[in-house]
Amino acid sequence: MPTNPLVALDRDHLIHPVVNYRAHEQRGVTILESGHGAYLRDTQGTELLDAFSGLWCVNVGYGQQSVVQAAAEQMAKLPYATGYFHYGSEPAIRLAARLVELAPASLRHVYFTLGGSDANDSAIRFITHYYNSTGRPQKKHFISIERGYHGSSSQSAGLTALAVFHQNFDLPLPSQHKIPSPYPYRNPAGSDADAIIRASVAALRAKVQELGRDNVAAFFCEPIQGSGGVIVPPKGWLKAMGDACRELDILFVVDEVITGFGRTGPMFACEAEGAEPDLMMLAKGLTAGYAPMGAVLMSDRVYQGIADGVAPGVPVGHGYTYSAHPVSAAIGLEVLRLYTEGGLLANGIAQAPLFEQGLRDLLEHPLVGDARSRGLLGALELVADKSTKARFDPALKLHERIADAAYRNQVIFRAFGDNVLGFAPALCYTQADFELLFARLKKTLDEVLDQPDVYR
Ligand code: PLP
Repeated sequence: MPTNPLVALDRDHLIHPVVNYRAHEQRGVTILESGHGAYLRDTQGTELLDAFSGLWCVNVGYGQQSVVQAAAEQMAKLPYATGYFHYGSEPAIRLAARLVELAPASLRHVYFTLGGSDANDSAIRFITHYYNSTGRPQKKHFISIERGYHGSSSQSAGLTALAVFHQNFDLPLPSQHKIPSPYPYRNPAGSDADAIIRASVAALRAKVQELGRDNVAAFFCEPIQGSGGVIVPPKGWLKAMGDACRELDILFVVDEVITGFGRTGPMFACEAEGAEPDLMMLAKGLTAGYAPMGAVLMSDRVYQGIADGVAPGVPVGHGYTYSAHPVSAAIGLEVLRLYTEGGLLANGIAQAPLFEQGLRDLLEHPLVGDARSRGLLGALELVADKSTKARFDPALKLHERIADAAYRNQVIFRAFGDNVLGFAPALCYTQADFELLFARLKKTLDEVLDQPDVYR
């Protein structure tokens, strides 16, 4: 088959995110060409079942024509409107109001960004400004969680706790601190829910005490850690962390970039937990990946603290050309309609037991040590020895072999370096899609198991 000339153009000119560039030059790009529902097609004509919603974002599935139409109409009418100089656009205003309607009651104001990293950066800047203007400028330290992911821009990458995002960047900053992950499968406190929650609360209290509560601004967390390995804390954990933040007089900041928009069942994971954050970051499912957009939602208390600016007549120096982009906002409004009136949230809730059961059934597979999920966010953790939970030798590069075998079996999910397989199927998945997913997944695991050096 003649080689697609795009492969050479890609190798010569396009730098990909979080990919080993040399390895990529040798391997070559797989070009995705079209998508429909839960399925993608590449330029070789291979149809792939997407079990990761792109990068945990295409929650409504591909090819939703009403979203395409909403974008086209807004582009034709007004493709761009700045938010500077007191200008604005109708879709952005309506989207902010709709998000406030749907979000936890504590959140009343919305700042739009281009994605999740800059939403986290924006939150850090607003919080710092909030404490400055409310007379406590020394509250500048931020606590997040090991294995957490909050982005790869210069400040958010320091809140992120994955080593490759720090190496050579002098991160984390001296003002950025971590507490242990509430990782049920590998928690030194054991697997009991109450013990895990108590350990996390104690760790947060100890860290705040160590830094001095007058110096700590906020605690950032994901309700379920995504890129750190789909770590699902016990129910009640999020609320307990929020309560601890209030008691410690620090802001409680929840990153729902992955968990928002029906990914774990309800519109936001905070809802199921009765958690009331002071700030919340959104992206991904906000526009379902049809255009870039993120958001920071904040409480009235935080907003009132920053509303007067840095000084009389001097605004907070923080903004983007594409903040509150009207085309992204029009897409966001239609995507929200699909989640609610369009029935996608309800479908996600209805299908979740099939997903959970399918993952749990795979616990019988010799490679699978743990299966975990909430809603349509889940993972399998592969181990070399189930009794000791020992990990595979990294030299085996098992995750790469699994990703290759999965592609041959026409299914896409995320194979992390420590052999956690992450899944985030779109909310439009049907029973037939799940049956196909688990058949292809089992075949993939069986093939990898058969490789002579993997399992002895
Ligand atoms: N926060 C979380 C929880 C994420 O998972 C991500 C991305 O995966 C981000 C923030 C960063 O978002 P973006 O890649 O849109 O900048």
